[in-house]
Amino acid sequence: MATKRDYYEVLGLSREASEGEIKKAYRRLARDHHPDANPNDHGAEERFKELTEAYEVLSNAESRRAYDTYGHQVPRGGGGAYPGGDPFGGFQDIFEAFFGDRFGGGSFFDGGGRGPARGADAQVEVEVDLREAAFGTDREIKVQTVKNCAVCDGVGGTESHVCGTCGGAGAVRTVRQSLLGQMVTTQACSACDGRGRVIDVYCDNCRGSGRVSEVESRTLRIPSGIEDGMKLRISGGGHAGEPGAPPGDLYVIVKVKEDPELMRDGEDLIHRMRVNVVEAALGTDVEVPTLNGGSEVRIEPGTQPGTTLRLRGEGMPRLRGRGRGDLKVVVDVMVPTRLTAEQRDLLEKFGAMSGEETYNGTGGTFFDRLRGVFR
Ligand SMILES: [Zn+2]
Ligand SMILES: [Zn+2]
Repeated sequence: MATKRDYYEVLGLSREASEGEIKKAYRRLARDHHPDANPNDHGAEERFKELTEAYEVLSNAESRRAYDTYGHQVPRGGGGAYPGGDPFGGFQDIFEAFFGDRFGGGSFFDGGGRGPARGADAQVEVEVDLREAAFGTDREIKVQTVKNCAVCDGVGGTESHVCGTCGGAGAVRTVRQSLLGQMVTTQACSACDGRGRVIDVYCDNCRGSGRVSEVESRTLRIPSGIEDGMKLRISGGGHAGEPGAPPGDLYVIVKVKEDPELMRDGEDLIHRMRVNVVEAALGTDVEVPTLNGGSEVRIEPGTQPGTTLRLRGEGMPRLRGRGRGDLKVVVDVMVPTRLTAEQRDLLEKFGAMSGEETYNGTGGTFFDRLRGVFR
């Protein structure tokens, strides 16, 4: 295909033809030139293709406007300027679509052929601490993504001409006979890389690739209550798609740093509180670290190791729903390890004067007390 005929000329219409006239002209010509109706005429298939392409472009208001403005020189990559892309992709179906009951007046090529591909998804990781995860925070993230070159609109060149191999379709169709009948396959044109156009003057900005890599900064809202490993999706924040196709999405994986004092257990938090054996026996007030700073907690006289105190509503905010979990304070009792002679003496005296009744009512074993901590 050397030079393309004007689409209006192909359909025998004036530039002012109405939608109805275009449809009518195509219907008539397609019937006359369909290859099945002209088995011995080898030019019929070419003419039918030409008709179909002309109809496909002119029957869609958007691509017709582009054609009226740019003619066959419409800048396109992979058929992007014409909705549906490859005008030959639906060749096999078009006759059926046209004369069958599937003809609905829109593009024949919806769902047929290969359209321009959507961009790839991008992924970044951010790390927040436990308090940021609890109450949410704004975080500036930098993402490197591939964008369409703004200078050449993603085409790769500032000057180009229609590909002679595929006639601008960006795809080539192969017809061969098989046991099952005619097999039609459509492949991206290798001469133009599926762009439909061969580049004469390459774009300096993107060195002909049509793509540029950009580092983009954006502010991300980390929602309150987020858990380690959760993914946030930013629709359209990924890599650019082929011209005419949408970009991919950006996924942000949130890592929550471990806190030295507060361990997460779902929506609850656990703090291990160490008191010494005297404090556990006599009772004491301790300062427990919380997400909001700290809270004073009473350790009752006779508190056993593994005893769990619950601070209602001092846990993590619920990601979905209201309120917060609890902060569970697990009491750990320290037993002295280095005793002076005098201390040893006192403890021995204490031992001698205490018996079973001293330890009465300690209630259950250590493991029983600990059981309530983990769900
Ligand atoms: Zn460029
Ligand atoms: Zn080509």
